[in-house]
Amino acid sequence: MTKNVMIIGEFNDSGLSDTTLELLGGAVGLSSGGSVSLVLLGSGSENQSNAGFKAGATKIYIADDESYNEFLPDKWMAAIIDASTQDNPDLILLEQSSIGRDLGPRVAFKLSTAVAMDCVAIEEDNGLKVTRPCFGGNARAVYSFTDSPAVATVRAKSFEPIDSGNESGETIKIDVNAETKVSIINREAIVTEGLKLTDAPIVLCGGRGLGGPEGFDMIQELANAIGTDKAAIGSSRAACDLGWYPVANQVGLTGKVVNPDLYIGIAVSGASQHMAGCSGSKSIIAINKDPEANMFKSSRWGIVGDYKEVVPALIEAMKSN
Ligand SMILES: Cc1cc2nc3c(=O)[nH]c(=O)nc-3n(C[C@H](O)[C@H](O)[C@H](O)COP(=O)(O)OP(=O)(O)OC[C@H]3O[C@@H](n4cnc5c(N)ncnc54)[C@H](O)[C@@H]3O)c2cc1C
Repeated sequence: MTKNVMIIGEFNDSGLSDTTLELLGGAVGLSSGGSVSLVLLGSGSENQSNAGFKAGATKIYIADDESYNEFLPDKWMAAIIDASTQDNPDLILLEQSSIGRDLGPRVAFKLSTAVAMDCVAIEEDNGLKVTRPCFGGNARAVYSFTDSPAVATVRAKSFEPIDSGNESGETIKIDVNAETKVSIINREAIVTEGLKLTDAPIVLCGGRGLGGPEGFDMIQELANAIGTDKAAIGSSRAACDLGWYPVANQVGLTGKVVNPDLYIGIAVSGASQHMAGCSGSKSIIAINKDPEANMFKSSRWGIVGDYKEVVPALIEAMKSN
């Protein structure tokens, strides 16, 4: 059955964010020939419309206005409600980002419908079904919607981007005059070098079992051997709390959610709150000296041993390749 799907787009430094491109790819499949509309807010949006059409959008709602350059929830929501009223979508998808997490419930409330947060899969199966991790990442729950439009926030890497082969389509201007009660008084960037943890295809994650911050130097060596364009380093909360690695790189329930192709947990026990941030990884490898460690239960492969022996061997193996 055809569906009209609307994506709330986000940008990174180079244009449309990777997750927005993935959501567009997923929306094309879910729409079964219905419309795939993209909402773009902020200056420069117009310039990104070609990329949106190429990634699968059939029409784009645009507010190319600098008043949207900062995320102001009330102003953004008014624009999205305007676009939604014009478009009448069956499904509205947002990223599971700080913006999406804020906007999803607001949009659903305003439209008197329901929101499913932190989804890892959406499919059409006698109605829309969304899958979300639950019980701290130890199980997955499937939900359906009784209200329309369905609103969902979706984790990065849940869908594959596509190339529609088309770079043009209908663009529609959104009313940009909504008031806001919010003003940003200061902004401090967290400086991260190299690949972003959430974008990395390989995440190497260190835990308290490293025994000290120097354990992360060894993990950095492994990342260098793999290639810092592929591998980024994360940390368990226990290691962050001990000040061994920056909190910005914490993986888990109260940290970042990563869905890499490969996640290697090094001296991480695999507590449910940690797994909530990495259980969506395509493959997990555990390196732990305790064969009973919980991390092994979620892993495709496991190495039982002292990381001080295992990681240098991996570094050597990577270097000799
Ligand atoms: C509300 C709440 C939210 C939380 N949010 C998060 C979160 O976002 N992220 C998070 O990570 N945690 C979170 N936690 C904490 C979580 O419950 C665990 O305490 C934490 O993940 C444990 O970190 P760890 O695995 O590094 O340490 P430990 O549990 O101490 O495990 C260390 C592991 O290293 C192994 N080990 C020791 N020495 C070696 C060695 N030489 N070689 C190989 N293996 C070795 C041990 O066998 C052990 O399995 C949260 C907890 C709560 C209550």
